[in-house]
Parts: sequence; C-alpha cells; structure tokens
Amino acid sequence: MVVAMYDAWWGSSTYPMAYRFPPSTSSAPGHFVGPKLSSIIRGGSWFWPNARSEVLVEIQSRLLEVSIGEVDQPVWGTRSGVFSSAETWEELREKKPEVEWYGVVWFSATIPKHAFFLWLAFQDAITTREKMCRWGYTGDILCLFCRFKQESLTHLFFQCNFSRKIWRSIMADCKVLDPPDDWDLIVKWSSAGMKGKNLHSTARKLCFTATVYNLWMQRNCLVHGRNPKTEEALLSKIRWEVKSMILYKFPQNC
Ligand SMILES: [Zn+2]
Repeated sequence: MVVAMYDAWWGSSTYPMAYRFPPSTSSAPGHFVGPKLSSIIRGGSWFWPNARSEVLVEIQSRLLEVSIGEVDQPVWGTRSGVFSSAETWEELREKKPEVEWYGVVWFSATIPKHAFFLWLAFQDAITTREKMCRWGYTGDILCLFCRFKQESLTHLFFQCNFSRKIWRSIMADCKVLDPPDDWDLIVKWSSAGMKGKNLHSTARKLCFTATVYNLWMQRNCLVHGRNPKTEEALLSKIRWEVKSMILYKFPQNC
C-alpha cells in the first residue's frame, strides 16, 4: 500500500508530500487525501477536488510528471530502484571527503581489531596521558615503559626506547631500515608509501597496525598491573599475527 502523504511517490521527488506540505499547516492537502494513493485515482486518472488553493494547484501541476498507467507498487529509493544494503547505506550515511590515511587502515587483509585501533589513533582518539592532560588530567603523566618522558602517541609508539626497538625491528622485516619516529610524519609517510594491494604493501600495513596495537596492549598490561610481555615475546606475537594473515591472503607467495 502506498500512503499518499507519507511515501515518496510523486514526480521526481525523493521526499514524501508531507515534507513539502506538513499536515500541521493550514495549507496541507491532507484533509483532501485519504491514506492510500489509490484514493486519489479513479478509472486510471487523477481524481482530485477542484483546485481552490495555491497548494492544490502546485500539487496538481507537479502530478502531470507522474504516469499512473503503471502497476502501483513500492520501490526502493536507491539508484537502481531495488534493495541493496550497500546502496541503502550510501543513501543514509553522511558523506565526507576521503581521508589520506584511509587505505592504511581499511584494506582487504586488515585485522579488524588492529584496524579499529589505528582508526582511533589517526583521529587522535586514543587516551594517552598527554591527551588526558588536554582534558585537565593532573595525575601521573609519565610513559609506563620508561617512566621518563610524557606519554604521547609519538613517544609511546615510536620514540620510547622500548617501543623504538620493536618498531625498528618490525619495519626492518619489511626492508624499511630508517622509518620515521614522529606521529605526524608517520601519518603522511604511511598514507603515501603504503598504497597498493600487493604483498609488499600489505605486509607493511599489517606490520604498522600490528605494532601500534600490540604496544598499546603492552601499555595497558602495565596500567592494570598485569604481567607485560618481554621484548622478544612481543616481537614474536606481532610477527605471528602478520605472518598468519599473509599466509591466508597470499598463499601462493609463501
Ligand atoms: Zn617511554
């Protein structure tokens, strides 16, 4: 059943008639129109009362665009006119320009928990102690790995002595011998240098995301008083996670 006032059926409109003529306004045609679209069609023609207001004149002129010779059936308001979850999502979502680091986070071989964490990090949404200070936090600000410098994204993941060894060891596996160690530089470096779907590019992205994620997990072990991994154990875990995904995605190359 197509509802005359609340379904988007008229002309080339993608909105219901009630949006243009809200029922609460005195000019709304609701009191002329029954609930069904069929209530204003008789014998294959439009059946409207005489147009005694500007509203009805506008409606009736726009209805000239609508052919009523076709079968009366609801259709999806997507580009193809049939249901598709992808097209429906495209219609509903708020669209913004694509960010430069999109491909570093979201790619076919991505490990979801790693990708989600890096997505948060790229949006400055990781609650490091440096970020908490910006919110007014006045407690302990020191890095839990070295207890020497303030905990920031740059220090925690790349410049702390503990993290630096992990980061450079994992990047060396990818033949990157002198990776950047500043967060802002890394955002640009990874966005520009990790494009593509080939094995080499995918391995770099997996190594980057796995390193950042596992260092954060290591940091959380210290925050919550759990036993942290040794440097060797942490390196082994990162390498195992990356290798497992590469074996799955590129079995012909392994
Ligand atoms: Zn540190």
